Amino acid sequence: MINLYELSETQLTDLLTSWGEPKFRAKQLYDWLYNKRVMSFAEMKNLPKELRSRLEAETSLGTLSLVAEQSSRDGTIKRLYKLTDGQLIESVLMPYDDDRRTACISTQAGCAMGCVFCATGQMGFSRHLKPEEIFEQAMRFASILEADGDRLSNIVLMGMGEPFHNYDSSVEAIRRLMHELGIGARHITVSTVGLVPQIRRFADEGLQVKLAISLHAATDAERAKLLPVNKRWPLSELMDACRYYIEKTGRRVTFEWAAIQGENDTSEQAHTLGKLLKGMLCHVNIIPLNPTGGYHHGPAASDRIEQFIETLATYGVSATVRMRRGIDIDAGCGQLKAAVINTDDIGVNL
Ligand code: SAH
Ligand code: SF4
Repeated sequence: MINLYELSETQLTDLLTSWGEPKFRAKQLYDWLYNKRVMSFAEMKNLPKELRSRLEAETSLGTLSLVAEQSSRDGTIKRLYKLTDGQLIESVLMPYDDDRRTACISTQAGCAMGCVFCATGQMGFSRHLKPEEIFEQAMRFASILEADGDRLSNIVLMGMGEPFHNYDSSVEAIRRLMHELGIGARHITVSTVGLVPQIRRFADEGLQVKLAISLHAATDAERAKLLPVNKRWPLSELMDACRYYIEKTGRRVTFEWAAIQGENDTSEQAHTLGKLLKGMLCHVNIIPLNPTGGYHHGPAASDRIEQFIETLATYGVSATVRMRRGIDIDAGCGQLKAAVINTDDIGVNL
């Protein structure tokens, strides 16, 4: 079976030409796949029946199989897919109140980085995803939206896994999202735990993609407790790499801060963070911790978060709280998979 989502436009043309089809058929097929975004060959009305049958027999539209889906009251949709080798990954679609439609997609099955508060980190690493497996997650949401007369507008590589640990496939997937789905680089965000060499490499890539860094603590001692990767690349090296990125791209960096009660919501951390980021072209995104089974801490209280933001403002550092999406459906990173693995009984509506 040939996975059509693996093929570039040229490869798609080559395939149909090798079947003896005229060139315009490839154009029509490409249009069904990436502009009309249909998910079945039967809908490709202007293709001859015989060609549709051959496509049906010899090719596939992707390789992911949907095993569970949850919809939240706020409109968030979370999906669990099985890969061909049985691995499970998650993707989330967040339809915001404004006209943004954001897909949050995974880059690995599991994750090797072991951040203590993260459900995916608690599972350990299974394997890297291939570019087409990363791409297809967004494609599937784009298709659902298209059927509703809507368009996928934004992508965040913030699902399971560390995108920069799977650098080549993540960047290849980003390029395909831009080309095939027409998503502008500025509407794509890649989030990293702080792999310094890859941040520098990404800066040199020449893409206008947004970069988010999972910071979560402002001192090495605190950060190493939460993110083991900090032992390999401490804050000084991470900050140098961020400054390099800003210098090379002229773009603002986002720092992610999972606000944990009694850990990193203190006035001391706020002042240390303010000093660390003062004068930098950046923004701090605060996300109250989503509690997970393997980490016994709660989210910071909202008045602490307000204070934290005020303290940062005294250093000229901007910060906002990101609302928790899909809180009623385990929409935190890796949490649906954890729920499915831990119980046979999940409220799925397929
Ligand atoms: N591996 C990448 C991207 C995936 S995680 C990274 O770590 O940046 C996406 C974001 O969710 C990261 O900022 C991560 O720190 C955060 N996150 C993970 N588990 C969380 C939790 N339980 N509560 C709040 N944020 C969490
Ligand atoms: Fe991996 Fe990101 Fe989770 Fe850390 S927070 S374990 S890097 S997915």
